Amino acid sequence: MFGLMQERPLLIASIIQHAARHHGSTDVVSRLLDGSTHRTTYRQLEARARRLARALQRLGVRMEDRVATLAWNSFRHLELYYGISGMGAVCHTVNPRLSADDVAYILDHAQDRFLFADTSFTALIEAAAAKLSGHLRGVVLLCHAAEMPSLALPAGIEVLCYETLMDAADEDFAWPSFDERTAASLCYTSGTTGRPKGALYSHRSVLLHTMAQNSAAVFGLRPGDRMLPVVPMFHVNGWGSPYAAPAMGAAMIMPGRHLDGASLASLMNAERVVFSAGVPTVWLGLLQHLRSSGERLHTVRRLVIGGSACPPALIEAFDKEYGITVEHAWGMTETSPLGTFNTPVEVPGEDATAALRRKAKQGHAIFGIDMRIADDMGHELPWDGTTSGNLQVRGHWVCSAYFGDAPDSANDAEGWFTCGDVATITSDGNMEITDRSKDVIKSGGEWISSILLENIAVAQPDVAEAAVVAAAHPKWDERPVLLVVPRQGKTIDTAALLGAYRGKVPNYWVPDAVVVLDELPHTATGKISKLTLRKQFRNHLVATGAAG
Ligand code: ADP
Repeated sequence: MFGLMQERPLLIASIIQHAARHHGSTDVVSRLLDGSTHRTTYRQLEARARRLARALQRLGVRMEDRVATLAWNSFRHLELYYGISGMGAVCHTVNPRLSADDVAYILDHAQDRFLFADTSFTALIEAAAAKLSGHLRGVVLLCHAAEMPSLALPAGIEVLCYETLMDAADEDFAWPSFDERTAASLCYTSGTTGRPKGALYSHRSVLLHTMAQNSAAVFGLRPGDRMLPVVPMFHVNGWGSPYAAPAMGAAMIMPGRHLDGASLASLMNAERVVFSAGVPTVWLGLLQHLRSSGERLHTVRRLVIGGSACPPALIEAFDKEYGITVEHAWGMTETSPLGTFNTPVEVPGEDATAALRRKAKQGHAIFGIDMRIADDMGHELPWDGTTSGNLQVRGHWVCSAYFGDAPDSANDAEGWFTCGDVATITSDGNMEITDRSKDVIKSGGEWISSILLENIAVAQPDVAEAAVVAAAHPKWDERPVLLVVPRQGKTIDTAALLGAYRGKVPNYWVPDAVVVLDELPHTATGKISKLTLRKQFRNHLVATGAAG
């Protein structure tokens, strides 16, 4: 016997409709490319998203067509999220930090019909368009007619103006109802190994992710909250914030392309931001700015840090120096992205060191996600906090196949998706990533966690950023090499730095060499590019004679 409850499709347009009806006057604030501030509300934004849906129809966009975006976080990007998905087309966010070659590959692979882009990306668009094989019909620049830059595109690709299209369209569009399993948005992994691959989210997966994300154990946003998503909307749906905030009636403060510490601090204070989310590199930049300028954050209470491992030193610094709680999250493009979350809890009797150690782990599976660790043969490994294995997940918002691939081809026979991360899980379910499987250092047959070594380096007072990579070694196969960037105006005493490892890790974990660099390379998603560093320093020990 089935239950007798209504069954309504879980559709993305319902989020912005709800926001317009119940939180209609809540702010959506955008810092634009020229540094000026634009203000609108959910009521106005929903009306413009309907107008956009009409404009898309006039361009000939139909259900299931892919429509690409190449844009910073702003109200227009939010309109695109809702207008495109809401009409039944697929909102394909493209990462502008990728090379023209990768952008062209992604646009071709997705067969995008239109590309909506910020005016700051004309050079990238021209370079990518020259390599396209013919699906793209037009590029729509996100500006007014008077602001249109010149853009030279191959024959057959029109150049259009967003606000001109909007002016010509009506708001009389009614959000349609369709199967909740319909594709809603598409996001390619940044292809650190091989070509980028597309995760194709459905309306249902996005809605379920949004509800879980807004539970009290996770983002827990509420009306009256003011959230600043630092994580770009071109990176895994902005970690779900463009859906989570309107669903709860929390205000959105969008930083555009201004992501340096000084710009973020001034926007956070001016707009009374209470909550934000982004990768560790951004928060290290903000922390450095706060320390050197003496500026305080007057309203920020919580920061979600994820995308790569959050150093415990960062959690401690924000807590002790600024009274801000850091909440560590783990996820990936293929998990929409949230998989685990380390919700702050007090454990009676726990000392400060143990508490920090616990908070620095990637946390517990969010309700709706099942996870485990397994060996290379796929056998489940124990949850004892020390045995490490391949992290696997399954759940309502986990990818089953990449775009264009055979159904379920990304999962094993039991439905597990293997993440490419190596992790431990404690008996009570607190997961810790020790490495990406391709970053693991194998020395004399033993695994060394690069993340743990990096965390210790970043906790030293003169170190701004650190990475540990495997270098080839004739005897041990691989040995760790530590690459560090000093804090502004500081010099690094390498002997003292290596001394910091004594007693904290087994002796054979201590890096064989330290290299001081002016900066570390970062990927298109703002993470330290281990791939570049691994290539660069692969032969470091042999070349410098340090391998004995
Ligand atoms: P990419 O970085 O390749 O663009 P993703 O954003 O999907 O793509 O990256 C997902 C990966 O980022 C995870 O598999 C994991 O290796 C890493 N990651 C994400 N969050 C964390 C975290 N909190 N700690 C450690 N690693 C993380």
